[in-house]
Amino acid sequence: MLYKNAYIENSEQLSDLRVEGGKFTEIGSGLEAKAGEEVCNLGGKLVLPPFIESHVHLDATLTAGDPVWNMSGTLFEGIACWEKRKPKLNKQDIKERVNRVVRMYAANGIQHIRTHVDVTDPTLMAMETMIELREELKDWMDIQIVAFPQDGILSFPNGKQLMTDAVKMGADCVGAIPHYEFTREYSVESLNFALNLAAENDKLVDVHCDEIDDEASRGLETVACRALELGLFDKVTASHTTAMHSYNNAYMLRLMRLLKLSRINFVANPLVNTHLQGRVDTYPKRRGITRVKELTAEGLNVSFGHDDIFDPWYPMGSGSLRDVVFLGLHVTQMMGYEDIMNSYRFISTNAAKTLHIQDSYGIEAGKPAGFIVMDAKNYYDALNHDSAVLLSVKDGKTIAQAKAAEREVLF
Ligand SMILES: [Zn+2]
Repeated sequence: MLYKNAYIENSEQLSDLRVEGGKFTEIGSGLEAKAGEEVCNLGGKLVLPPFIESHVHLDATLTAGDPVWNMSGTLFEGIACWEKRKPKLNKQDIKERVNRVVRMYAANGIQHIRTHVDVTDPTLMAMETMIELREELKDWMDIQIVAFPQDGILSFPNGKQLMTDAVKMGADCVGAIPHYEFTREYSVESLNFALNLAAENDKLVDVHCDEIDDEASRGLETVACRALELGLFDKVTASHTTAMHSYNNAYMLRLMRLLKLSRINFVANPLVNTHLQGRVDTYPKRRGITRVKELTAEGLNVSFGHDDIFDPWYPMGSGSLRDVVFLGLHVTQMMGYEDIMNSYRFISTNAAKTLHIQDSYGIEAGKPAGFIVMDAKNYYDALNHDSAVLLSVKDGKTIAQAKAAEREVLF
């Protein structure tokens, strides 16, 4: 198949892409169709590498209002609502909702998802279900699974064993939640345990790290230190790190040196954290987001995720990462021309580094043919006008398509 006339990643020159056997075989301008080769004219639209959801909890999605709505919008009322929803949780319920949300994602150009699955459940039912879904959906969506200890590793009965069992079952990444552990000592020990478990089993790491407005929450330094000492480096990700918003600048200066040495990745979740953080502040109210601008300027890798889609903690979400990027740029004050133009990287190339899939990802000859086509010429326009994803091709196969919206103004 020859795809003609595309602006690849904001290029001002039109290019063509040849896809054979599920891979890109040639990318250049003025490619001629071979005898019998099918041609698709993209008509001067934007082509990007596929979007990536680098942080979500699929097992909780699409449960908002079932059976009760979170009226205050707080984290704690969210937990209370979830307790009421939990009795209905079973394999069939999770599979039905995940199948729906994965299709919502696909329609919006997402082809890879990292999901955190709660393993503070003695039956590990959600983990088992998600491992089955990873296999069932693999032709349409790549799913990476994090063993996520929602109630802590040291602070939950048998927490270490549940984490070990989840890794044995087939989790791709090891999680942790240091700011939620009962004590500072438990926090450090849980991180030592989690990173050792990953190192011993050749797994990735993604920690819910310091998702709190407490400036004394300093799990991140332990994560970075262990990533460096164990040689895990960019196999490790710190999600949220919202406490960094409140760190004093002298501490931040010291920490930044370690972060750069450790080369770990960061995930910010602008929608959910601006919604949930700052709840105990009066005024001024903190924005609840990590220092994306400063981390990026220091060469550290940051990607953006949803965290929640239409669940007790976040009542919105349609599976489009557009709003994540749009709000993310506002709250981090990254609204320069280049910042806006390149912001698709937060949900594509940067996210590929977070998921550690960069070797098989990107629009390059020899790599799997994954790309999306947007109804715009560049990402600035696509973001500003909320352009549709017209086509999503994964391993050379079309997995979603849409028609460009037609509007008529009658004056
Ligand atoms: Zn999360």
